Amino acid sequence: MASPMSANRFLDALQDEGVTIVEVGDWREHNRNHVGPWGPVHGVMIHHTVTSGTEETVRLCRDGHPTLPGPLCHGVITKDGRVHLVGYGRANHAGLGDDDVLRAVIAEKALPPDNEANTDGNRHFYGFECENLGDGEDPWPEAQLEAIEKVSAAVCRHHGWTARSVIGHLEWQPGKIDPKGFTMNWMRDRIEERLK
Ligand SMILES: [Zn+2]
Repeated sequence: MASPMSANRFLDALQDEGVTIVEVGDWREHNRNHVGPWGPVHGVMIHHTVTSGTEETVRLCRDGHPTLPGPLCHGVITKDGRVHLVGYGRANHAGLGDDDVLRAVIAEKALPPDNEANTDGNRHFYGFECENLGDGEDPWPEAQLEAIEKVSAAVCRHHGWTARSVIGHLEWQPGKIDPKGFTMNWMRDRIEERLK
């Protein structure tokens, strides 16, 4: 049972981990808290955006679109490895996922297959969207991979979690494929190494 960090603590944790931050507008107060709960938090979720270009990617993740209002995550990790903070609180990133997966994340056990969409993930996960087309061909620069590793480690370090608390959207919600281009097991190994 973990309460979400304050926005300022979140910013500090990321900076302490060596992340390059860009603060976007009123990110501390930009959230979906008026439509549902935020917390307790149990993990970190990684996504890809299916966009290219920093400006358009950050704008979309901050504002969302008519059928899915923003923010669509907390931090946007662009190709250059910078992390743009676009919102804080409940965000539209995780959608409905599998309660068995949530239980495994809480217990930090191996993940079962995600075959149900019965649980509100926006309540329970910090979310990071990564600029990538998601076609399996668009490259993931090392600076961007390192930023994913660092933001995940920063949140885990604060809450006393292991890398098993970091999952991909594809491990949460049936039908999702993100992030595509590396495996979450490989990324979790990197995060675990950083947390040593
Ligand atoms: Zn996603």
